[in-house]
Formats: sequence, C-alpha cells, structure tokens
Amino acid sequence: MPWMIPNIAKNLTGSPATRKYPFEKRPYFPGTRGRLEVDFLTCGYCGLCERVCPAQAIKKIGDKKDPDVTILYKPFACIYCARCVEVCKFGSVKIFEEHTAPADRKLTLGREGEPVDEEFVLNNGF
Ligand code: SF4
Ligand code: SF4
Repeated sequence: MPWMIPNIAKNLTGSPATRKYPFEKRPYFPGTRGRLEVDFLTCGYCGLCERVCPAQAIKKIGDKKDPDVTILYKPFACIYCARCVEVCKFGSVKIFEEHTAPADRKLTLGREGEPVDEEFVLNNGF
C-alpha cells in the first residue's frame, strides 16, 4: 500500500489525462483528410470525380446542360483518398483538415452539402 502513495499524490495534484470534449477539442494533425466539399459554382459537371472514385462515394446526376444537374456525395462511403481532388481540373473538390460531425444515419449530401432524400438517391442508382 505505501508504494501507491506517490501515484495517488500525482493523480490528486496533476492535470487531467483526458480533454473536456466537446468543449476542448484536439487540434487536427497536419495532413488530416476528413471533410470533403464540392464547390458547385465552379464545378463543370464533367463527372471525372465519379469515374475515378474507388468507393463510388461521389456521383454526377443529370447532364451538365440540365438546370437540375447535381453532385451527390456519400461521406460515410468516402475513404478520403483525395483522388477526386487530384483529377478535378476546376479545383472544385476540396478536402479539409478536419472531420465531419457525427450523424445518426448515413446521409447522402447534395451539391450544397444539404442532406438529400434517400428516395431520390435510390431512384438515381446511387
Ligand atoms: S471532377 Fe470537378 S468539375 Fe468534374 S464533376 Fe467532379 S467536381 Fe465537378
Ligand atoms: S476522396 Fe476518394 S473516396 Fe472520397 S469521394 Fe473523393 S475519390 Fe471518392
């Protein structure tokens, strides 16, 4: 028992070993790949990102002349390989050094990052 005293004293007087998450967040490591965004204003809707995506996590819906053309993205399928970022000649896909917030279901996001109706997603074979 006496051999535990230094440890007890250290635990009582030392700073906590854990962070007060979510109030205190750990900074992300450089090079973290965890959030992806498509800038639909600069996107040329060429569909190249869809063709190279190994996880089928991004898809162009419709023709680029169509006013309803959109990009759908599945953050829960994405493996953050950044292949889409590399091939996009318009620089429209960006990957950020942060993580997306947790969600209670596997959302599919539309071109403005808004959750898309799952029926629409299924009807478009995504
Ligand atoms: S590769 Fe770039 S320009 Fe082409 S559809 Fe994807 S985001 Fe849009
Ligand atoms: S980062 Fe990789 S897995 Fe995610 S959408 Fe782009 S190409 Fe697909």
